[in-house]
Amino acid sequence: MKPVMALVGRPNVGKSTLFNRLTKSRDAIVADYAGLTRDRHYGNARHGRYEFIVIDTGGFEPTAESGIYKEMAKQTQQAVAEADVVVFVVDARAGLSAQDHDIANYLRRLGKPTVLAANKAEGMLEGVQLAEFYELGLGEIHAVSAAHGQGIRSLVDAAFEPL
Ligand code: GDP
Ligand code: MG
Repeated sequence: MKPVMALVGRPNVGKSTLFNRLTKSRDAIVADYAGLTRDRHYGNARHGRYEFIVIDTGGFEPTAESGIYKEMAKQTQQAVAEADVVVFVVDARAGLSAQDHDIANYLRRLGKPTVLAANKAEGMLEGVQLAEFYELGLGEIHAVSAAHGQGIRSLVDAAFEPL
């Protein structure tokens, strides 16, 4: 069986763009507005010596009243449950948000292997501008640009090497 990678993160961080990059398809809908991909979306991916299934998710759709656990779409929870490894995507340009903290806490509690991808990092000085993401307590920050295809190979290696 191929291992399964789930892409998780708040809306608009670039999950669907990363999905397209990993699967080399235009299947996942990429949009400028939040929360469009509401259903799980599966694709086949092969990078280096790793062949795997990747799941795109609609992400978290928060409302003012409910906590992160209620906000989290059921589909996303199922995707995480199915996954061997979670890629938690954050937006390197927008910086760290309260939602990112909530998602990180949720993932830490699950104890599932998780790698942190700081997307939209093209042209950024990694050490300086991404340091705040260490606060999430998920270890190494993998700078990627889904749109420009940068950092993808080392992200995939980091995800699957420990498995
Ligand atoms: P999702 O809601 O997490 O699935 O995010 P999308 O994949 O729909 O992308 C949201 C927006 O971020 C779109 O306007 C993308 O073009 C943009 N985006 C995605 N990846 C990158 C990237 O690597 N760099 C930059 N600058 N923008 C990106
Ligand atoms: Mg999406």
